[in-house]
Amino acid sequence: MEQMDGLDVVACERCEALCESRSRIVNGVGPADADLLFVGEAPGANEDEQGEPFVGRSGDVLDDGLREVGLDRGDVRITNCVRCRPPENRDPHKQELDNCREYLEAEIDRVDPELVITLGKVPAEHLLGRDVAVTGEAGDVVDVTIEGEPRRVMVCVHPAATLYDPSQKETFASTLAKAADFSDGESGQRRLGDF
Ligand code: URA
Repeated sequence: MEQMDGLDVVACERCEALCESRSRIVNGVGPADADLLFVGEAPGANEDEQGEPFVGRSGDVLDDGLREVGLDRGDVRITNCVRCRPPENRDPHKQELDNCREYLEAEIDRVDPELVITLGKVPAEHLLGRDVAVTGEAGDVVDVTIEGEPRRVMVCVHPAATLYDPSQKETFASTLAKAADFSDGESGQRRLGDF
């Protein structure tokens, strides 16, 4: 795909509104062979400024949650359904999600993670292809076919939900704990070392 260089989208003008609102394309970060791939909705203001997903308040919540289950931000891969910041942080439109889908699918294909974790409603519904009641389904692992490959997807609440509704904190933490079980190697060792 000529717009991509490895896992990065280097040039794209598929969405007129997003080309106008973005400062840059925000690509995924983290190891290209990560066991866990977290998928958010779209970059916000901080992400647009710094060029990295989940670096604002939601990112702090995610980083803290990962640390609590013995994982480091650098151990996992983090990306978004849509790589450019929507104007006024509105939800991405269906057409924008569709336009960016090829990049997300290429990233999932190349990273080939043990588990894809969706952060919030938009990525859950985008990847499961149906309505999702995120709080009720959080922690569930769903088998989905993405680009012809069987994938395991775990539904998770958006980190920002824990800021608006503290009752979501436990749901977020227990989902991350379950997700961590799909990650082995170094981070698993670190988890054991915590006990
Ligand atoms: N929320 C998201 O869904 N993605 C980000 O990158 C940041 C906040």
